[in-house]
Amino acid sequence: MSRNAESTAFRSALEVVRGVEPRVADAIAAELADQRESLKLIASENYASPATLLAMGNWFSDKYAEGTVGRRFYAGCQNVDTVEALAAEHARELFGASHAYVQPHSGIDANLVAFWAILADRVESPALRKAQARQVNDLTEADWFALRRELGNQRMLGMSLDAGGHLTHGFRPNISGKMFDQRSYGTDPATGLIDYDRVAEAAREFKPLILVAGYSAYPRKVNFRIMREIADSVGATFMVDMAHFAGLVAGKVFTGDFDPVLHAHIVTTTTHKSLRGPRGGMVLCGPELADQVDRGCPMVLGGPLPHVMAAKAVALAEARRPDFADYAQRIVDNAQALADGLLRRGATLVTGGTDNHLVLIDVSGYGLTGRQAEQALLDSGIVTNRNSVPQDPNGAWYTSGIRIGTPALTTRGLGAAEMDATAELIHTVLSQTTPGTGPDGAPSKAKYVLDPAVAESVGKQAADLLTPFPLYPAVDLG
Ligand code: PLP
Repeated sequence: MSRNAESTAFRSALEVVRGVEPRVADAIAAELADQRESLKLIASENYASPATLLAMGNWFSDKYAEGTVGRRFYAGCQNVDTVEALAAEHARELFGASHAYVQPHSGIDANLVAFWAILADRVESPALRKAQARQVNDLTEADWFALRRELGNQRMLGMSLDAGGHLTHGFRPNISGKMFDQRSYGTDPATGLIDYDRVAEAAREFKPLILVAGYSAYPRKVNFRIMREIADSVGATFMVDMAHFAGLVAGKVFTGDFDPVLHAHIVTTTTHKSLRGPRGGMVLCGPELADQVDRGCPMVLGGPLPHVMAAKAVALAEARRPDFADYAQRIVDNAQALADGLLRRGATLVTGGTDNHLVLIDVSGYGLTGRQAEQALLDSGIVTNRNSVPQDPNGAWYTSGIRIGTPALTTRGLGAAEMDATAELIHTVLSQTTPGTGPDGAPSKAKYVLDPAVAESVGKQAADLLTPFPLYPAVDLG
C-alpha cells in the first residue's frame, strides 16, 4: 500500500464518522495523537499494521456466521468462509499446527473453548453432550446441575497469579477457578524461576486433568518439553496459553523445547500482543481435539466476528513474512538491553533479567509500591502497568512490581541505544519518587511525591526519544 493510500483511507474513514458523531471521530484522532506521543512499555500491547486495522472497518462486521467453514447456521456466509479459512490456513502454516480455530473473540474466550474441549474429550457426560448440542442460554438450571455433577470436580494445575500466571489459569474469582478444583504452582523464591521438580511433585499429588503453562508476567522461557513429560506422567492434558509470547513462537525465537506447539496437546493465544494482529483469540491443536474445539460456538461463543477474522488473516500473513522473524528477535534483544540498562543502574529485576519480551521490576528496591511507580512513570510520559511480584506483600491492587515490555516500541523501530536511554529515564523517575502520606499523615501505598520539574524533563526526553521513530508515519490526519 502506498503511504498516500494509508493517509487517504484513515482520513476518509474519519470524515465519514465525523458526519454522524464528531466526538467519536475526535476521540479516534486523539487516541492516535496520544499513542504517538507516549513511550508505550505495556508488555501486552502493540501497534497493528494499517492493513490489519483497515481489514476490520467494513461490512463483515454486519454478518452472522455461527458454525464453521462450509457448515453455517446462517445463509450467505461464502465470503466469511473465505476469510476464516484463510486465517486458519495462515495460522496452521505459521505455527506448524494441524488444526487452527480462529473464532475466539479474545484470549479468555480461547481458553474457555480449550477447557470445554478438554472436558468433552476426557469426561463422559450426557449432560455435556446435551449442552454442546444446544445454545447455552437454552439450558435449564437442572441441566447445569447435572452438568456440574457429571463433570465431577475436575482438576486444573496452573501457574499462580503472583508468579506470573493469568486469571484464566484457575484464579478463584475467574470462571476457570469455579469450573475446576484448582491448584497452582509458583516459582522458586530464591531464583524467581519455575522449579520443574516442584511442578512434577504438585502434579503427582494433585493429579490434574489439565496442566496449564503460559504466563502474563514471567520474564523467562518455559521448557514445554519438560512440562509435557510431567503432564504425561500423571495422564493430564497439557495446555499452553501463549497469549503473550505468540509473536516469539511465530518468529522462531522460541524453538525446540520452548516451542509450545511442538509439545502441548492444545495451545491458546491472543492475536493482539506480540503477534501484532487485531484484538482476538485463537486455538491450535492436533486432530484429537479438533472436533471439540470447533464446537466453541455454540458452547462458549456466539457468532464469530468476521471482520476480526479478516484482520487475523492479514496479520497472520504478515507474520509469515521473513521480516517478522527479525522483528521477533529484536523484541527480545530490546528487552535484554532494557533489562541490562536497569540492572546497571541498580534496579532489582524478578529473575535477574529476561529472555522473552518482558521485564519485571521489583520497585520495592526503590521504596515504592507498584501503584506509586506506575503513576509517577505515567506523569513522566512513560506508560507501564503495575504487576504483582512473586509472594507480593502488597497484594494484587497496590503490588510491588512494574511490568514493562518491548513489542510496541520495537514495532516503532527503537533499538538497543534507545532501550538504554529508556532505562535511564525509568531509573530517574523511580529513584526520585518517594512514598507520600494520606490525609491523616499515615504512609500511603498510593500517594507519592515527584518533583513536577523532573516529570516534565523526563517526559520531554521520552518524547525526543520517539521523534525519530514516528508511529504510523504514512498516516497524516491533517
Ligand atoms: N491469557 C494470557 C496469558 C493473557 O496475558 C491474557 C491477557 O492479558 C489473556 C489470556 C486474556 O486475553 P484477552 O484480554 O484477549 O481476553
